[in-house]
Amino acid sequence: MADLLKCMECGGMVSSEAYKCPHCNTGRDGIRGVNCTICGGFLKFSEARHIKLGEYSESQFFHNSCYQKISQTVEKKKTINCPVCTQPNLFSYADTRSRSHYSERINCAKCGHPYEYQQTKENDPYTECRYCGFLLEKNLEVLVFKSDYHDSPDYYSHKLCDTNERQAQRLKDQEYHENSRHKIEE
Ligand SMILES: [Zn+2]
Ligand SMILES: [Zn+2]
Ligand SMILES: [Zn+2]
Ligand SMILES: [Zn+2]
Repeated sequence: MADLLKCMECGGMVSSEAYKCPHCNTGRDGIRGVNCTICGGFLKFSEARHIKLGEYSESQFFHNSCYQKISQTVEKKKTINCPVCTQPNLFSYADTRSRSHYSERINCAKCGHPYEYQQTKENDPYTECRYCGFLLEKNLEVLVFKSDYHDSPDYYSHKLCDTNERQAQRLKDQEYHENSRHKIEE
């Protein structure tokens, strides 16, 4: 049965089965409002920043303020100290989400010693956030899932994206997994 909803955009009453609001003409997403991917809060469709991370992905919605905090956190630079004279030298940053391995060999700017830096998923200082999909710096944010297996990844979240609701959901998932593991062992 159809319920009555209050349109998020104009405040008018709309049937929950309507495809658009008869008062302001906004579509379904507009009537119900959308969730900010980062803080989980509700906001108007018309006021949200809309982002698609892939050509065929669904749109994600953001408060502008939340988005700005996330998009400023990562500065992609990689300095590794020379093993001989400890001079920090700059390497290029390789995004290991799209390639599994990257290596680069340089000569130290101070002593000329040649050395190589190999980057894999494991030592990549950056990864994408489990919740918003944007890049984060692992040691500044939260490890939300530690993988038991070498070849499957750990998951990280921005502190901002790690909301109370998501923490509670993770606890639930964990309990569920532990229970099902006990059942298998019995
Ligand atoms: Zn409306
Ligand atoms: Zn938000
Ligand atoms: Zn050196
Ligand atoms: Zn995030």
